[in-house]
Amino acid sequence: ALGSMQTAIKAREGEIQKLAFYDELTGLPNRTQFLTQVEKMIQDSNIADFSVIILDVDRFKDVNDTLGHELGDKLLFMIGERIQSLNFDSIFAAHFSADQFAMLVSNQARDDVERFTRALLDTFETSFILKTVKLDVDIRLGVARYPDDGKDCTTIMKCADIALYSCKDLSDRVLWYESKLNKHSVQRLTRLSELRKAIEEDQLTLVYQPKIALKTGEVMGMECLVRWHHPEQGFIFPDEFIPLAEQSGAIRELTHWVLKTAAKQFMLWSGRGLTIPMSVNVSALDLVDQKLQDYVARLLEDWQIDPAYLILEITESAVMSEPQQAMYSLYHLKEMGIKLSIDDFGTGYSSMAQLKSMPVTELKIDKSFIQDLSQNSDDQAIVKSTVELAHNLGLSIVAEGIENEAALTILKDYGVENVQGYFFSKPLSAQDFYDWVIAWNEKKSQFPGNGTEMSA
Ligand code: C2E
Ligand code: CA
Ligand code: CA
Repeated sequence: ALGSMQTAIKAREGEIQKLAFYDELTGLPNRTQFLTQVEKMIQDSNIADFSVIILDVDRFKDVNDTLGHELGDKLLFMIGERIQSLNFDSIFAAHFSADQFAMLVSNQARDDVERFTRALLDTFETSFILKTVKLDVDIRLGVARYPDDGKDCTTIMKCADIALYSCKDLSDRVLWYESKLNKHSVQRLTRLSELRKAIEEDQLTLVYQPKIALKTGEVMGMECLVRWHHPEQGFIFPDEFIPLAEQSGAIRELTHWVLKTAAKQFMLWSGRGLTIPMSVNVSALDLVDQKLQDYVARLLEDWQIDPAYLILEITESAVMSEPQQAMYSLYHLKEMGIKLSIDDFGTGYSSMAQLKSMPVTELKIDKSFIQDLSQNSDDQAIVKSTVELAHNLGLSIVAEGIENEAALTILKDYGVENVQGYFFSKPLSAQDFYDWVIAWNEKKSQFPGNGTEMSA
């Protein structure tokens, strides 16, 4: 009896040991064991150097959200298998957290480690097959070396992390730690955590820029643009933090915040007799995220807002990055009665052929074509043909970035319906926007039917 009890205790201890040091999902060592291993190597006098590689799976959250946790787990298991299938000496692999793996490569020259990371990236070129779904998985790698980058475990791990987070765009698939990355990335990480806080603590505000109908001079809508009022750094413009929000996934919360704030404002203005459509910018990730539709539907329902008053501005590249899922979202939103607009037209790989298959009703010509319109005959040719083609597809046009009357005259001549730009007004706070519209409408009655004489 005693013997069998001892066996049972041993088995349980083994079980506990396993839970403490192995990751259940992938069967790989976990973070604790990995760190212990790093410590051991530092102590081991036979080991002169080693490299730590952290691997991050791009947008793993999307896989989980769209395919469900079961397939997400399966994918992680397969990724673990793939890492282990690489035939390299002295590799110790571990699973850190959902989308992060780590590898320890001991006593290998830098060249050999580079060979390993290349092989690692290559093996991810092959798609993963999950039941009937074929998935392309992108990874990023951050590498740090002992003893060059750090002499203790914490420092080495931090350096690998910094290298990883410095792989900003898809062209940086692997980065080796350098001290110059440090400064930049500390800033980035600080910004990122600040941004999350800013969304939660309402440090963001919206400003509103009017859209004017060229024929009537009517304010036919407005675009909601986000600003970050940083407690120390003052106003930060979206070009500085939207990309950060997009890379980190915080864009979802940001878009939800913008939609909610816009809806509230819409109701406040409506109560004061100003009811005009509002345009909100959404990102590629929002479209892949099947939650956007639900969020918008609930919001409009809660506030009893007619969906026809909401326009979502999307860029074509957003649709092209994940065409199937994005299209699915777009059709769903359209069915709900929401209008869709193609933003920044002309700047990406946009083509009219692709536009044809999209359920959009409006096209915004990017400001880069409009700002110097009267001086630049190339821009004139592009804008003119864009307007003609878009009209043939039944789309209405908004030209953005009108800064002078000369541009306005040309756009009128081309048959552009709507305009937006500093010539009329910069984006304004809610109160200023309301006052501006009142003042504009008074002026407008002095110049009935004439858009060009109505500069602000
Ligand atoms: P966008 O969607 O192309 O927005 C138009 C930008 O042009 C705005 O800059 C606006 O202030 C500026 N603009 C308008 N008229 C003129 C003009 O006559 N001349 C010049 N030079 N500029 C003009 P802003 O507000 O800095 O926004 C920059 C970009 O940030 C936006 O470009 C949009 O891509 C992004 N963004 C802004 N708000 C949001 C948001 O709530 N969500 C998302 N996802 N993106 C946003
Ligand atoms: Ca826009
Ligand atoms: Ca634009």
